[in-house]
Amino acid sequence: MELSSLVRKNILDMTPYASARSEFNGLAEVFLDANENPFDTTFNRYPDPLQKKLKKKIAFEKQVKPSQIFLGNGSDEAIDLLIRIFCEPKKDHILTLPPTYGMYKVSAALSDIAIVNIPLKSDFIVDTESVLAKANKHSKLLFICSPNNPTGNDIPLEQIKIILTSFKGIVVVDEAYIDFSEQNSCTNLLADYPNLIVLQTFSKAWGLAGIRLGMAFANVDIIALFNKVKPPYNINQLTQSAALAALDNANEKEANVQSVLQQRDYLRAHLSTFSFVKKIYPSDANFLLIKMDDPLAVYHFLLEKNIIVRDRSTTYGCEGCLRITIGTPTENERLIRALSNFKKQL
Ligand code: PMP
Repeated sequence: MELSSLVRKNILDMTPYASARSEFNGLAEVFLDANENPFDTTFNRYPDPLQKKLKKKIAFEKQVKPSQIFLGNGSDEAIDLLIRIFCEPKKDHILTLPPTYGMYKVSAALSDIAIVNIPLKSDFIVDTESVLAKANKHSKLLFICSPNNPTGNDIPLEQIKIILTSFKGIVVVDEAYIDFSEQNSCTNLLADYPNLIVLQTFSKAWGLAGIRLGMAFANVDIIALFNKVKPPYNINQLTQSAALAALDNANEKEANVQSVLQQRDYLRAHLSTFSFVKKIYPSDANFLLIKMDDPLAVYHFLLEKNIIVRDRSTTYGCEGCLRITIGTPTENERLIRALSNFKKQL
């Protein structure tokens, strides 16, 4: 793969912003280089623009090199930057596999980039042949969400490998929910496929949606492009500190994931006994996609009980469905109790 042939020319040609702190190398005691306030407020200094300490820890955890990591303000920032790095407005397009995560479409629209949709087949299986048949030289990015939101299923690694081998653009595997899945992460494939980018996030299994921290893993040349275009201090000090603390306490994350997995089975077992539940799709994520007789009635009934779930009943491929996130054991009990009253109403 010739990476530069996939990158927008203006991105190849541009000179990145050189921040005061990234220009400096060595030992300093007095910092008069960045127009900061000299008085100590704990946060008077700019954060490390390349988050070296944090990347070192993540690299160890994920078995990649720090230079293979980009950190973003949520993985949403990585999605947006990728589209801006690779797609020429009005010329290039991205490929997506609906029903899938909504931000690929929104970020593309923001950059005036067209979308080519290759719908998932029944049971939310990727139509590999159509993906490859519809791709052309303007198909710069293909987004594969695995486990997929809102359907919940993994996309099998064998299928991802076939696409990685044959697709001529960049394959972005969005693994926001990978910690809830039994399938291995595609980060294990990075050495074999230079056109692979894997997205993960601290928002789900790590329980840190509020700090906004997303990760992109790729070969060093792709990460260098991210670093070239990103806002200099995109990851603030509070976020870096919170993530470092969480990584030192990975046992808590593991325990939370185990609880969610247990509760996923528990909820499935209970919800499937309700007559208005038509189908609960297999889930490798922290939510269930559930087909119901009258999803909007259930949605509004739960809302009255101050329980909000996600209405996906008008989403292509998810007609009649609600998406329900797995909560704490107490929250799940409350959901089941509420729904058993809905059952009685029928
Ligand atoms: N990818 C998928 C598949 C998601 O569902 C989400 C959030 N719902 C994101 C990415 C964005 O995550 P972040 O909080 O890291 O921006």
